Amino acid sequence: MTSGLVHLGSLPARAPGETAAQGDASLTRHGLMRDGFGRRVEYLRISVTDKCNLRCVYCMPEEGLPWLRRDDLLSYEEIAEVVGVMAPLGLRSLRITGGEPLVRRDLPVLVRMLSKIPGIEDIALSTNAVLLDGYATALRDAGVNRLNISLDSLIPGRIDAIARRSGSADGIFRGIEAAERAGFAPIKINCVVMRGRNDDEVESFARMSQERPWHIRFIEVMPTGENLGVSADEYVSSDEMLERIRAIGDLSPVNGPRGNGPARYYAFPGAPGTIGVITPMSHNYCDRCNRMRLTADGHLRPCLFGAIQTNLRDPLRRGEPIEPLVRETLRIKPERHWLVQGDDTGSGGLLALSQVGG
Ligand code: SAM
Ligand code: SF4
Repeated sequence: MTSGLVHLGSLPARAPGETAAQGDASLTRHGLMRDGFGRRVEYLRISVTDKCNLRCVYCMPEEGLPWLRRDDLLSYEEIAEVVGVMAPLGLRSLRITGGEPLVRRDLPVLVRMLSKIPGIEDIALSTNAVLLDGYATALRDAGVNRLNISLDSLIPGRIDAIARRSGSADGIFRGIEAAERAGFAPIKINCVVMRGRNDDEVESFARMSQERPWHIRFIEVMPTGENLGVSADEYVSSDEMLERIRAIGDLSPVNGPRGNGPARYYAFPGAPGTIGVITPMSHNYCDRCNRMRLTADGHLRPCLFGAIQTNLRDPLRRGEPIEPLVRETLRIKPERHWLVQGDDTGSGGLLALSQVGG
């Protein structure tokens, strides 16, 4: 395939309704990347593995997924090479994710490599925190500036039940403490809200923002092939979450912590932390999208969802230039996602976000 453009397995070339820009992906006169719809793209989410030590009910099935082979994964050197090509085009911020990124060996080594690439100003990490205790200081020393930690309940038994791994709550709490000791601030806590599983904790989570300088972000569950039951039956909209939180205190819109995310933030008067909502389903924010994704096996995805992705790994391994492929992927970045709750057609056939780095 000479263009380097490929599609996952037997997926349709486009998700229903999916459109790509006809315009030109171009560099502005400041050398910054813009897609065919004029959106400036300066943020890359890098998945370093599709594997995970948890099995969150909204993410992957209990028995796991067909994992990528070791040889299929980009090496740390290859990841750094991709970032090294994109940085002169305007890439500024990175987020390392997965699967669970801390299950990949020696992650601080990658962080150190990425932090030395000219132009890269910010490196963040998304983690379930189970293994963070052993890594927090090394990650910070290597150059991670910001952490997002997934925490779907404040009740240990529930955390274990949602993650389908007993003992995970202990590891997560130890990981959060280690992150605070290592000096990570702000810490963002991500909570996927599900009716009947943890939606009764929205108020308790919100109160945490009055006690700690945490930025609690509630996420609407998104449909993928492996969680259609959860997405159809347990979805809670951000409007409902905010209504419940407003019932316990005055909530004002505020500027969020530094970051590249789409969350809308609020705070109680005088609270050290904030409350955010991430609303991919009820209020999509695709018009402000500033990101692309690099999968663990080296595909550049212009959107989390949909079937468009470009194989950078094979051309890279053949010693071919990948910059034209980056530009082409940027050019065909879709205008928006077409997700429908309880239906996986709009996801482009993804089984789980862990496959592409959520
Ligand atoms: N394992 C790490 C973690 O859990 O933070 C990083 C990867 S995980 C795929 C990244 C984020 O995606 C987490 O905050 C997780 O809660 C979220 N996520 C995964 N599947 C989701 C879904 N179907 N809908 C909404 N958020 C989801
Ligand atoms: Fe693992 Fe993160 Fe998916 Fe949970 S959300 S199963 S921790 S990749």
